[in-house]
Amino acid sequence: MQQLPEEFIDSLRRLVGEDEAGPMLAAIADEPQSSIRVNSHKLQWSGPERVPWCDDAYYLDGRLTYTFDPLFHAGAYYVQEASSMFLDHVVRTLLDAPVLALDLCAAPGGKSTLLLSALPEGSFLVANEVVRSRVASLAANVTKWGNPSVAVTSGDPSCFARMTDAFDFILVDAPCSGEGMFRKDAGAVAEWSPSGVELCARRQRSILDEAWQALRPGGLLVYSTCTYNIKENEENVRWMTGHLGAEPVPVGTRAEWGITGALDGSSIPVYRFMPHKTRGEGLFMAVLRKPDGDVRPVALPKCKRRSVTIPHDVARLVKSDGRIEVEAPDSNRFVALPGEWKPVVEMIAGNVRVVKAGVQVASVKGRDIIPSHELVMSGLYDNDALPAVELGYDDAITYLRRGQPAWSDVARGYCVVSYSSVPLGLVKGLGNRCNNLYPQDYRILTTHTPEDIRLLVNA
Ligand code: SAM
Repeated sequence: MQQLPEEFIDSLRRLVGEDEAGPMLAAIADEPQSSIRVNSHKLQWSGPERVPWCDDAYYLDGRLTYTFDPLFHAGAYYVQEASSMFLDHVVRTLLDAPVLALDLCAAPGGKSTLLLSALPEGSFLVANEVVRSRVASLAANVTKWGNPSVAVTSGDPSCFARMTDAFDFILVDAPCSGEGMFRKDAGAVAEWSPSGVELCARRQRSILDEAWQALRPGGLLVYSTCTYNIKENEENVRWMTGHLGAEPVPVGTRAEWGITGALDGSSIPVYRFMPHKTRGEGLFMAVLRKPDGDVRPVALPKCKRRSVTIPHDVARLVKSDGRIEVEAPDSNRFVALPGEWKPVVEMIAGNVRVVKAGVQVASVKGRDIIPSHELVMSGLYDNDALPAVELGYDDAITYLRRGQPAWSDVARGYCVVSYSSVPLGLVKGLGNRCNNLYPQDYRILTTHTPEDIRLLVNA
């Protein structure tokens, strides 16, 4: 591991004391622990060692070669370090009714996909990322996870401050100095400096201030960082209580999880994951409630309904559950969204760039209706609508590389290809050959295939 900056080591000694600094530094120099979260809508899999604070999450005894695991590309699991998954416990403990949720700093989407599994049924998530170059990975991960109750947006937190009192639940997983990632990410060590810590703390307050305006009275904001210092953590929570009137909310935990409380001498309920005490990377989390009060209502626009009849060839692709509505936002595509959230999506689109909302069902090219990759990845796809082709491992990797599929017995027209019965995407059968319709942007880029491939499930 890269040499840690002396100033960081000194700050750690002051934070946890001489006795603990040694074991903590030794843990930081150790190998990170691998863990995954399984998408139970796509795959039934359980490992021997559960992450105790998260449903469907497991420690692994080594890294998977996930770039070469078709189930990873299918969105059947997400590789996420275990401490971050504490959000699952927070959400399942504190929320019991559908919410409009915002993940303000969302790329690459680890916590967004977690929220899509953990939020109460009937909720809707807005996953936002301000940095343009990071939005594609967020959209891809959310698409692969397959839950239709989501919009991906790209805007500055100030766009959300304009939507006063609109959200019931906001996650601010803030950009931070990344001390908790030192053993996973050499770049975080190289970038660290005391002035960087100050800058991060100031930026976090500005983000929190804007997020707070978008939170409805009585709503919950979860603040998290992956850093250890007090400035970016307890001091910011105290700033929120002092300046914004935020009320810290305790969350029940178990002693054996090894979670550490506040390190500033205060008794505010905060949740710290320290690598010498908890199995995971460094993480800080706190939950803050906005006091009850009058809601300043945001105007919800009346949905402009385009009276378009949805063709049978489109409608039959979608499982109908009564909540999902298919519509044609323009003449080139059909999109499915939970009907009750449509006015909210329009309100959001009036304030911030919406990259995608709901699930694209199909696109239209001339007279051809082309089923969309997004649909096949989602839980909305009606499995009986198109012919299916189950691929073996080598064919699945060829498909994910967007190579020319070698298999020949594909029906004419659009077919869904799957691996271990989990859909990977679409092909178009042309009789004696077929076209690979896997999205160009998602394909496996490397032409090198490692010798020792470790898959989650050996099919
Ligand atoms: N929540 C993500 C996950 O679990 O995969 C990780 C989020 S990362 C800790 C913080 C994110 O905040 C980054 O994607 C970064 O691009 C974004 N960010 C950077 N500056 C920001 C700002 N001024 N306002 C909001 N977000 C910002």
